[in-house]
Amino acid sequence: MSTTRQVKCCTGLTVTVREMTGHEISALKQSRNADDDGAYLANQCLVNVDDTGPLYDWPTGQFVVDDLAAGDLAEILIGVRCATFGNEFTFALACPYCGDGHEYTIDLQRDLEHRPMDEEAIDRLLRKEPFQTEVQAGTKTHVVQWLPARRRQLLKARKQAKLNPERAYAWAVSTRVLEVSGVHENGKLAWLEDLGVGMLAKLVDLMDYYDGGINGDIELRCGSDACRKTFVATVPLDSEALWQRPKPRWAKQGRPDHRRIG
Ligand SMILES: [Zn+2]
Repeated sequence: MSTTRQVKCCTGLTVTVREMTGHEISALKQSRNADDDGAYLANQCLVNVDDTGPLYDWPTGQFVVDDLAAGDLAEILIGVRCATFGNEFTFALACPYCGDGHEYTIDLQRDLEHRPMDEEAIDRLLRKEPFQTEVQAGTKTHVVQWLPARRRQLLKARKQAKLNPERAYAWAVSTRVLEVSGVHENGKLAWLEDLGVGMLAKLVDLMDYYDGGINGDIELRCGSDACRKTFVATVPLDSEALWQRPKPRWAKQGRPDHRRIG
C-alpha cells in the first residue's frame, strides 16, 4: 500500500495522489525531457479526481494534464512530493548580506502561500475571454490582452526559453499575451523585449496574481550568528526538488524504532 494525499488545487480541482515509487523516481532521473516530467508524474501518481471544480469539464474518470491551469499542476506535483517524503523540504541558499551559505528546511504546505485562483480568472478561462491591461510604453499606451496560464503555454514558453535563454522572460510572457494594440502579431515578442524590465516585471506580477497557486517566495533568517538578517528568497521548486529526499534527522529524533515504519 502506498501513502496517498488529497490535494486541493488553486482552481478548486481536488485530487488524490499517491507517493512515487522507486521506478518512477529513476524514470525521472533518466528523463531527458524535464518538460514531460510533470505530466508523467501527475498521470502516474493520480489515484482519483475527487472534484473537478468550476474550471474543468472532464468526463468522469478522465484527467487531461495539458488542460490544467499552471498553478494546479504545481499543486499536484508538490502534493506527490509531500505524499512521498512528507512536507519537509531542505534547500541550500547563500545569504544576500553576508554571502554565507546555509541549509534551510521548510514545510511545503504550511510555510508557502497557496492561493486560490482569482474567481475572475476562472471565469475568463471558461469564457475564453482575455484580461485587458493598459501598458505605458514611452509616450504610447497599448492595450495588452492576456489569458491565465495553462500547462500547454508553459511548455511552449519553456521550449522557446531553451532555444533563447537570454530572451526567456519575454518569451514566457509572449506565450500568454494574445494581442497588443497597435503592434503586429509578428512584432509582439520584439515589443515585449523592448519594454522596460520594470514594466515587464509588473506585467508578470499581475499575471501571477490572477493565476494563483504556490508562491515560492519566503522570508528566511540568515543562519550565521554574526549576521541573522532576514531576507526574501525564492524556494527552488524545480522538478529536481520533487525527488530530493529530506535529510534524516536522527540526531533530533533519537533512535528510530526498527520494528515498524510508516
Ligand atoms: Zn547573512
